[in-house]
Amino acid sequence: MKTYYIRRRYLLLLILLPLMLCLLLLLQDWRQGREALSMPLVGLTVVVDAGHGGADPGVVGVSGVLEKDINLAVAQKLAALLENAGATVIMTRDADLFLGENKRGDLQARVDAAVGADLLISVHGNSFPQQSSSCGAQVFYASNNAAGERLAVAMQKCLAAVSADGHRQALPHASSYLLKHCSCPAVVAEVGFLSNAAEERQLTDDAYQWQLAWAMLEGIVAYRQDGSAENAVGNQE
Ligand SMILES: [Zn+2]
Repeated sequence: MKTYYIRRRYLLLLILLPLMLCLLLLLQDWRQGREALSMPLVGLTVVVDAGHGGADPGVVGVSGVLEKDINLAVAQKLAALLENAGATVIMTRDADLFLGENKRGDLQARVDAAVGADLLISVHGNSFPQQSSSCGAQVFYASNNAAGERLAVAMQKCLAAVSADGHRQALPHASSYLLKHCSCPAVVAEVGFLSNAAEERQLTDDAYQWQLAWAMLEGIVAYRQDGSAENAVGNQE
């Protein structure tokens, strides 16, 4: 009887072990699937650049709002959302700082921060006082950078859903030092016009800043999911 009992235990083990292995594999698949859904940017290093800072305020809004402050507020929110999505985030500045001894040095410091990164997102504000009705977010890319263009188009599409003027298109930027010299796909995201009184007010609103940051995140996720991020790394000037 004792022998029979041991054999039965072995038999149970023989049946249970494969079942347990299957369960473990299923659990691993489920975990990986859940991670892909909830953390779609794992493995991506993103430089988030809040434009201007310190002695350089950027453009000044109609009621005195400084571009550098809006840039930082939106950049910090974008950085938080990116980290939550699994990305590794490098911020060029996380305070009211100028990053060089002069404008060129400041821009070069931002370019240097992107060495080895997968993407750079530079947050800026726009101004066109000659036409105070101008409004809406607009994303720019370097004209010789196909990956940057894909990212800009994806981000523009998402920003159009929350921005005041949803008809703007992503455009190439010929004179941006940052876009021209950045070693990874890069965009300059102009989040809105500080020369438009209504949009200037909107840009200071915390909830609206989160909406903008969320739209930018969606653009980055869409860009990565179309498979272009991996192909784009190293495909630069
Ligand atoms: Zn700017």
